[in-house]
Amino acid sequence: MTWTPWKQAWDQALYSESGFYRQPAGPAGHFSTATQGVPQIGEQLARALLTLMDQEGLHTFVDIGCGRGELLEQVGLPARRAKAYPHQLSGGQKQRVMIAMALACRPRLIIADEPTTALDVMVQAQVLDLLVSLVRELDVGLMMISHDLSVLGSTCDRVAVMYAGKIVETGDAEQVFGSPEHPYAAALSAAFPTIGDLSSRRAPKGLPGDPPDPTNLPSGCSFHVRCPVAFEACSTVEPPLLAVGAGRQAACLLVEARQS
Ligand code: SF4
Repeated sequence: MTWTPWKQAWDQALYSESGFYRQPAGPAGHFSTATQGVPQIGEQLARALLTLMDQEGLHTFVDIGCGRGELLEQVGLPARRAKAYPHQLSGGQKQRVMIAMALACRPRLIIADEPTTALDVMVQAQVLDLLVSLVRELDVGLMMISHDLSVLGSTCDRVAVMYAGKIVETGDAEQVFGSPEHPYAAALSAAFPTIGDLSSRRAPKGLPGDPPDPTNLPSGCSFHVRCPVAFEACSTVEPPLLAVGAGRQAACLLVEARQS
């Protein structure tokens, strides 16, 4: 293999004088881009583990080697896959590596941003099952960010529906999706096909218009230009987030009117 200048620069950035990696773990992003293309996945896991050097029983490079093997096995991959390069893994396997990288830092909270994007439904279900079982087993919190209501409904106890950067409804996931209080939450639920209902699959209900420009939000309720039940005050009055039941809140002038 030819030792090109960029490869030398990469190598210098990666290795310390002691011959081991010195780059800290970066923030985890989408699985298809968050794993770097050149190093083996074991190297990338080792960088995350290095942040815990001298803690958690990790004192030598041998400990780190064992630790990354354990992490891979924890997410359902054989330890020998540490030698694989990202391009040798499937989308689901890369996502498992991402979860292993997140676990490497012994988190108390995992924030999973669209964790199943671009995965087929079977692999999606496996990744969600893995996340849920790890969260239970390790007793850590899980915050999911997703546009996919089925993903949220099957993994989350509570949800917060956001529109134009603000929470418009929050509460128990089953209640919010089953009987939404806010018109945007209702539109989201209606846009999702119902199993067994052919008409909802063939003609899902959508919303007119586009999401607003975040740098130039509409006055009053940001949703008023698209809201099917907007009335005059909606274009001038910003609705507060009001309690609509135990552990449940919604920001809509209709909710306020019902309560007054
Ligand atoms: S405040 Fe008005 S525009 Fe906003 S969601 Fe409620 S009804 Fe619709």
